[in-house]
Amino acid sequence: MRSVSWISAVAAAIVLALGAGQAQAAQFELVILDDANEGLNDPESRSPVGGNSGTTLGEQRQIVLEAAAEAWAEVLDLSVDLLIGASFPELDCEETSGILGSAGPAAAVINFSGAPQADTLYTIAQANTITGQSSLDQGEVHIFTQYNAQLDEGSSGCLGGNTWYYGLDGNPPGGTIALFPVVLHELAHGLGFLTFVDLETGALAGPAGSDGFEDAYMQFLRDTEEDLDWTDMSDALRAESATNDPHVVWTGPIVDEQSSIVTSSDAFSDDRIRMHAPEELRLGSSISHWTPDAHPPLLMEPSLQAGVFNQLDLTPALFEDIGWPMSGGVIFRDRFEQ
Ligand SMILES: [Zn+2]
Repeated sequence: MRSVSWISAVAAAIVLALGAGQAQAAQFELVILDDANEGLNDPESRSPVGGNSGTTLGEQRQIVLEAAAEAWAEVLDLSVDLLIGASFPELDCEETSGILGSAGPAAAVINFSGAPQADTLYTIAQANTITGQSSLDQGEVHIFTQYNAQLDEGSSGCLGGNTWYYGLDGNPPGGTIALFPVVLHELAHGLGFLTFVDLETGALAGPAGSDGFEDAYMQFLRDTEEDLDWTDMSDALRAESATNDPHVVWTGPIVDEQSSIVTSSDAFSDDRIRMHAPEELRLGSSISHWTPDAHPPLLMEPSLQAGVFNQLDLTPALFEDIGWPMSGGVIFRDRFEQ
């Protein structure tokens, strides 16, 4: 069986001071990091497909990224423009497995005005949304994300010759992989669906020379076998817990309330939904995803599951748990029911 990996970059710089910025009509903005005629600027001619009106490869790629960002903009209560630095380089790809995309926050921020918890790391996208002010300097972005251009070459050595599907209609034909859900998934990592904990050592992240800080995500992790929250563990115990499937769970109340959409009992431990904590640590994958034992499949599982296209399922609930400003229950609960 083909396995398709999502990989998320977790590297984070720490920003301790907020610069001045001006709140405006808030939206996501795509910042293309590819060179001319490459990636998101690729001029190769294409026919419009599945509701995507682009007529070049680069345009079609841009339209998918913008549509996925728009889906998140409907759910989140944005107060400031969030900049997504995006590119389409050639990433690793083999016959039976390959990297579809990656993303991560450009920085983490603590102790900003209105921070839900003191001394706690938040993604710069969440922090700036809460303060209503961008803290970016010229040329900086909130989120970095990449998608694998190799998939458009149709080489059998890369995922058996599968190619990207750039349609927005949820009907990818056989032999294609829909880009839209991959972008939804990756942007969620950049927005805050990840921990900054060093999973190899269990150490908290922080500026050089500091003891490190808890992050908004790890504050809702618990090990049901140890009967301890991650915040109450030593570094060594946290590192052990990171590979302690099936005992690592999410404790946030909004996810708890909505987790009944998952009907597979082995996705739960002590009635809470499990996180991905395989015995062998997988950096960029372990802990920063739900368990792959969830059924129906969830957007934020470690691998792209058949049938996942535009549903956000439990991801907005997790964002609400970590204190993201949400645009109100109606929109995301409606989506959630779909
Ligand atoms: Zn992922």
